[in-house]
Amino acid sequence: MHIEVLPLSQPRQPQQDESKLVFGKSFTNRMFTLRFDRGQGWHTPRIEPYGPFSLDPAALVLHYAQEIFEGLKAFRRSDGSIALFRPRDNFARFNRSAERMCMPQLDIDFCMTALRQLLELEKEWVPHSHGTSLYIRPTMIATEPVLGVKPADQYLFYIILSPVAAYYKGGVNPVRIWVSDDYVRVAPGGTGEAKTGGNYASSLYASALAAQKGYDQVLWLDGVQRKYIEEVGSMNICFVYDGKVVTSPLTGSILDGITRRSVLALVRDMGYAVEERALSIDEVLDGAENGRLQEAFGTGTAAVVSPVGELTYRDRTVRLGQGQAGKLTMELYDRLTGIQYGRLPDLHNWIELL
Ligand code: PMP
Repeated sequence: MHIEVLPLSQPRQPQQDESKLVFGKSFTNRMFTLRFDRGQGWHTPRIEPYGPFSLDPAALVLHYAQEIFEGLKAFRRSDGSIALFRPRDNFARFNRSAERMCMPQLDIDFCMTALRQLLELEKEWVPHSHGTSLYIRPTMIATEPVLGVKPADQYLFYIILSPVAAYYKGGVNPVRIWVSDDYVRVAPGGTGEAKTGGNYASSLYASALAAQKGYDQVLWLDGVQRKYIEEVGSMNICFVYDGKVVTSPLTGSILDGITRRSVLALVRDMGYAVEERALSIDEVLDGAENGRLQEAFGTGTAAVVSPVGELTYRDRTVRLGQGQAGKLTMELYDRLTGIQYGRLPDLHNWIELL
């Protein structure tokens, strides 16, 4: 499919003071769009000026939330080149989310071609300062105007780009976590494994309660027994327990995080044993008290790793690492960002250069 490039009428300049960039608030000049009609398939690929869409008020996404998205980053390296981190894994996950939400599949090679062409035109928007990146947000929405609960016959796929500041400005700070007991994110058989907007909408209430109580993030327990650790905020979570790296298994209710996968590969390289197993909140709290639990950290594209400094469950609070990020947590942060920014060799072939 040939991608039509529409002209820009009023190009904007990237923010010069990169310390002023706020996550997800500013976008580049252009976006990629692609339409789908049942019977016709995907058509009309375009790179066009970034701007609002016109949507019918009855568009299915606005009523029944048939929507999926992805999140990945492009990094500017010291030699000026631009690196993508495991982008095909993101598009593969996008297709798994699409299947779960009864949405059409995309050709991953075509997505890569479109993303590369868009980035080539927008590359001056990939910021230069230490720790900054260009956040990439592929999205698909159901546009068919019909009030009826059914898979839509029309969709819009688009990719938008947002330059983002370094996540950690004053060092990697441990976060305070509130364990949600009353509210769950998803249930078995639900859509937890899909990156779909509804999962995030339903997480807002518990997150707001946690914020009111002064916590940074919510830790989600399983939706049946409310006993086993699932995720933290919009991140997967790993524990260093008895010297092994322990994380929740991919049971269908947590997202198969690309940072999680990368971290597990790196710790295996480093000689750690990895256990993907159910870990109860009691085991975590007891471990923090008796010293068997050494470190805990979230993993995700935005923060890379986010050390857990404190956990509160009901009326019990435990602390980890005396206000400092753990040793392995920091080592993983340095290794992953080292691969992303080209300071370390890419032994797993995770990088695709633009
Ligand atoms: N869990 C959830 C619910 C998320 O939204 C994310 C962010 N995409 C993650 C985990 C981490 O996934 P990744 O490492 O691929 O960013």
